[in-house]
Amino acid sequence: MFKDSDNEEGREDVTEHGGRIRSFKHERGNWATYIYVPYQACDEFLDLLDELVSVAADHKVSMHKMSEFHISQSQTVVLRHHWINPFVQSLRDRLRSMSRFHCIADRIKVYTNQEKTRTFLGLEVTVGMEHLMEVVSDVDQSLQEFDLQTFYPDPSFHVSLAWCVGDAVGKLDGSCLKELQKALDRFENSETLTCFYAEEIRCKTGNKTFCIPFQ
Ligand code: AMP
Repeated sequence: MFKDSDNEEGREDVTEHGGRIRSFKHERGNWATYIYVPYQACDEFLDLLDELVSVAADHKVSMHKMSEFHISQSQTVVLRHHWINPFVQSLRDRLRSMSRFHCIADRIKVYTNQEKTRTFLGLEVTVGMEHLMEVVSDVDQSLQEFDLQTFYPDPSFHVSLAWCVGDAVGKLDGSCLKELQKALDRFENSETLTCFYAEEIRCKTGNKTFCIPFQ
């Protein structure tokens, strides 16, 4: 429906946020955009993160801690500036009646980006996936309306905790993964820290963030 016929010549450019690097065609008026459910980290969660990063370091993987935490509900897409308001309105129309829901993210899992240039340590969601799938389905419809790429067909919802350059899956999987899971399970209050409510969805586009609260 909202295809953009503008056909400026562009060059590859890169956006980076918390180790997530994506290249996109640089054109004036192109805004890197992604949609997510935020996770509010408390001090204890940051202590847990220190512990997990030190377990990874014991396995010779030096990881950078994320500075903010969330569950992605889209890939990073590129939105033309004049489509920002109609796109956010489309998200609001679809998502405004969604109720807040309970999530648990307590399974350590290792991810890479598609190019395998970054590795992420994440907490996979084990409770709340059905609701997150509903959100993604609504978000995907808005993305399709604007001819933008939809989310993974087989999403693994997670909160990324830390990242490193390159493909470190071989080093982090196996015995390291087991130790990381043990460190999480025995951490004081880990059950409370991995349990939270999804209360809103956010759309970050360029330097603007739009919030859509759930009921
Ligand atoms: P995020 O913190 O949400 O940006 O996710 C970190 C990385 O996980 C991204 O670069 C995603 O491409 C990657 N990823 C790999 N497989 C999946 C999957 N099945 N579902 C969601 N994200 C994935």
